[in-house]
Amino acid sequence: MYEFLVLLFITLIAGGLVWAYFRYLGEKGERLHLINQGICPSCKQETIEVVDQKGGGCSGTAFVEFKCRSCDYHDSFNIGGGSCGSGGCKV
Ligand SMILES: [Zn+2]
Repeated sequence: MYEFLVLLFITLIAGGLVWAYFRYLGEKGERLHLINQGICPSCKQETIEVVDQKGGGCSGTAFVEFKCRSCDYHDSFNIGGGSCGSGGCKV
């Protein structure tokens, strides 16, 4: 009986972590979708601009930093995933 409770506990913890991870990915994806349209996820104004961009190509992920001109919102994304096979490479 004790082993069953431990197993249940571990399953709950693992499930919670996976849920939190996918929830985080979903939120990040939603923000990236808005930013790609030039819209700030924070103040909903079309004032998003790229302030920094590193990497890219087929060698690795492109690290892009965005900033909003009307509020203090800023965020960074790793775009591309560094894989040419997935069609993420646009060079
Ligand atoms: Zn903003």
